[in-house]
Amino acid sequence: MNEQSAQWLAWDQQHCWHPFTNQADWCDPSCERLIITRGEGVWLWDSEGRKYFDGNSSIWTNIHGHAHPRINEALNRQLGEIAHSSYLGFGNARASELAAKLCGYFPNRTLERVFFSDDGSTAVECALKMALQYRMQTGSPQRNRIVAFANGYHGDTMGAASLGGMDLFFERFRKFGLAVDFVGSLEELAALQAGEIAAVIIEPLIQGVNEMRNWPAGMLRSLRDWCDQQGVHLILDEVMTGFGRTGTMFACQQEQVIPDFLCLAKGLTGGYLPLAATLTTDAIYRAFLGRDNVFYYGHSYTANPLGCAAALANLALFELETTMEMIQEKAGVLQKLLTELVGTSPHVFQIRQCGMIAGIEVRQSDGRCFDVAQMRGAKICLAARKYGLLTRPIKDTIVFMPPLCSTPEELRYALVALRSALDDVD
Ligand SMILES: *Cc1c(COP(=O)(O)O)cnc(C)c1O
Repeated sequence: MNEQSAQWLAWDQQHCWHPFTNQADWCDPSCERLIITRGEGVWLWDSEGRKYFDGNSSIWTNIHGHAHPRINEALNRQLGEIAHSSYLGFGNARASELAAKLCGYFPNRTLERVFFSDDGSTAVECALKMALQYRMQTGSPQRNRIVAFANGYHGDTMGAASLGGMDLFFERFRKFGLAVDFVGSLEELAALQAGEIAAVIIEPLIQGVNEMRNWPAGMLRSLRDWCDQQGVHLILDEVMTGFGRTGTMFACQQEQVIPDFLCLAKGLTGGYLPLAATLTTDAIYRAFLGRDNVFYYGHSYTANPLGCAAALANLALFELETTMEMIQEKAGVLQKLLTELVGTSPHVFQIRQCGMIAGIEVRQSDGRCFDVAQMRGAKICLAARKYGLLTRPIKDTIVFMPPLCSTPEELRYALVALRSALDDVD
């Protein structure tokens, strides 16, 4: 190991604290820790000069690749103007442009207002607070409940975490957060007192952190219809699914659904900078006009111009590189490669795919789950590094979520690496 890597790793071990990480394992000498130092296109390099395919798009954020000349250029241009100014009391050029651009993806008179924040959790936090406050100032304070789906994931700040249906992550904080009703299906939802519900939140088409589980086709449309009948607002958490991931620009477009609140983050800046947006309708926005109705919410870096510049360049690239025109074909290539994988390993139990999102679940050859202590998924991902692929599992589901710019050849390379890793661990 080179001297510089050793120094970075030593400081990491002494001073850093990683998300969702058992630090005892991480700091154990047996743990093979990587320091990532460079990226280009779908590739990442570590501090030892080794090259890897970015198999989870740097935690589901990257779209057009790393160090993209166009996004870099947009950021450099923005740096020449200003990196940040307050959005509290002032507007900024890039935020105006970005808000107009985002609303332009939806039909007129639907989603017309954009509230900026910093990441997926805060985008959800905003939608939640708006949904509850809206009821207080429109004469229906009794509608004070939020409904979320079992096993869902909406972020880690206290409000967003209250909506989380994964007990492992959220159980210990339940008593501190918001009271939320959890349902597993539309039938369970229909059994609730709809008159007490302010809003329902869902990850449309597919639950990400819940090991990439697809909803049945038509479910989102039915949910929208139920919400309309009951006067309940629909919050769509498209933090993972937004920006082309599922095969359409936004997942909700696949079932002709428009939410009352749309939460966007991860892919918004193409994987460059933390920036999020909560889109809503004019009807909701208007309930916040007037001195008594102000939405008292914001962050120091709200609508950060660099983030907005990256987002604008990211969105321009969708047109310039005809990303959406090619996405169906790429998802088809991915599907074919994944299907081939099923036949080659006795432990590939199920493949779940939605556009450029894939979950590959491994089990024992008789279909029973592996003992969790085996850390099978983690072992496979560790083995994949040797073959030039970086990704992470969720339990025993290997997540494969390549940047949308991946070529068929690059996808093939990644799947060959994954197959070798599966063989190694067998
Ligand atoms: C990642 C994610 C979040 C949280 O976003 P952060 O930027 O990590 O705060 C919320 N919802 C979904 C569906 C996500 O995938």
